[in-house]
Amino acid sequence: MTNEDLLNVAQEFGSPVYVYDAAKIESQYKRLTNAFSNVKQLRINYAVKALSNISILKLLNSLGSCLDTVSIQEVKLGLLAGFEPQHIIYTPNGVSLEEIEEVAHLGVQINIDNLSVLEQFGSRHPEIPVCIRINPHVMAGGNSNISVGHIDSKFGISIHQIPHLLRIVENTNMHVNGIHMHTGSDILDIEVFLYAAEILFETAAHFKNLDFIDFGSGFKVPYKPGDIETNIEELGEKLSARFNEFCASYGKDLTLAFEPGKFLVSEAGSFLAKVNVVKQTTSTVFAGIDSGFNHLIRPMFYNSYHHIENISNPEGRERFYSVVGYICETDTFANNRRISEINEGDILRFKNAGAYCFSMASNYNSRFRPAEILWYNGKAHLIRERETFEDLTRNQVALDFSSSEKKSNKKRKEDAVTA
Ligand SMILES: *Cc1c(COP(=O)(O)O)cnc(C)c1O
Repeated sequence: MTNEDLLNVAQEFGSPVYVYDAAKIESQYKRLTNAFSNVKQLRINYAVKALSNISILKLLNSLGSCLDTVSIQEVKLGLLAGFEPQHIIYTPNGVSLEEIEEVAHLGVQINIDNLSVLEQFGSRHPEIPVCIRINPHVMAGGNSNISVGHIDSKFGISIHQIPHLLRIVENTNMHVNGIHMHTGSDILDIEVFLYAAEILFETAAHFKNLDFIDFGSGFKVPYKPGDIETNIEELGEKLSARFNEFCASYGKDLTLAFEPGKFLVSEAGSFLAKVNVVKQTTSTVFAGIDSGFNHLIRPMFYNSYHHIENISNPEGRERFYSVVGYICETDTFANNRRISEINEGDILRFKNAGAYCFSMASNYNSRFRPAEILWYNGKAHLIRERETFEDLTRNQVALDFSSSEKKSNKKRKEDAVTA
C-alpha cells in the first residue's frame, strides 16, 4: 500500500490509527514456508500475543497457519476465529494448573515449562499428550527483556534438569509428544540458532513417541533501511537438512514447528499519528503527536527503533526532530531523528508497527486505544473501532458519596475559617 493510501486511511478513520497490510503478512508467511519446503511436515504456529485482532487471526487461518498462545484468553480468541483446537498450541509461563487443565480439556496442545506442573499434570492426566519446553541456555536476543534462553531466565526446563524430567515422565507414565524451545527475539546469528537446535535434538532423542519439534521463534526483522535481518532462506536450508537427518536417525518423520510473531506481522503494520505541535526549544525541535507510549510502548519499554516518515511531506527538506508523545511523563519515540520537514497537522508514519504495538496498548492518561484497519484487496477494512468514553468507564463502579460530600463541604468551610 502506498503513502497515498495511508493518508486516505488517516483521513477517513482519523488518527492515531493502526494499519496492517494483509499482502505483507501473506508474503512473509509464504517466505517462511518456502524456506522450509524441504521438510516433509512443517507447521507454523503464529504467536497470537504479537497482534491478536480476530480478523488477523482469521487471515492467518486462511493462509494455513496454526496458533501459539500464552493464555486461555488467547486460546478462546483462536477458537472464535475458527481455528481447530488441535491447531493451537498453548505455551504458558507461570500460570495455574487449573488454567492448564481447562485449556487441555478444550483439546488444545499443552506445552509445559516447569517440573512442578509437569509432575502434577502428568499424575492427574497421563493420557493427555504434552509438549515440553526446554531451556537450552543459549544467549540470544536484542534486549534483556526479550532474551529468554539465558541461565537466569524463568522460561523452560533447564537442560541440566533432564535427568529429573525423565524420572517424572517415567514415574507418571505420561506421553510426551513434542519438544520445544523459544530462546528470545531478535536472533541474528543463524549459527546460534543451529547450536540451540542441536541441544534440542539431543534432548528429543530421549523421548520415543514424539510427533513434533518446535523451534520457537526469534527471527529478527529489519527496522531501518539497510538493516540486517535473520536470513530465513539460509536458516531454512541448513536447519531442514539437519532436521531431516535427525528424523532419519529417530526413525520417524516428525513435524518441524515454528512460532513466529514478529516475523509475520511486524513489517505489515504502520502506525499513523498527527503532529499537534512543533516546538522549538533552545536545543531541540520537538514534534508532538496525538499519541504516546500508551499506544506504542516499544521505544520507551525496549528502547526499540521505529522508522518514522512524514508522509504528508515526503519530499520536504530533512531536518532533525525529537518525536514525542502527549503522555505526562517522558514519552519519546525518537531522538534527533532526520525527518522531512514537519508542519503541524502532518501525518507521521511509524513503521514495523504490526507486532507488540496495538497488543501492548493501554488507556494510560485515560486515552482511547486507536482503531485498527486491515488493508486487504486494495481496500481499507475497519477491524477494530476506536474506543469511546463508554469503553473507559464500562467496568468502573462509581460509589455514591453524596451524603458525606455535604459534610466535607461544611468541614472545608470550617477549616477555611480557622485558618
Ligand atoms: C512471544 C513468543 C513467540 C514469538 O516471538 P517473536 O519474536 O515475536 O517471533 C514465540 N513463542 C513463544 C513461546 C513466545 O512467548
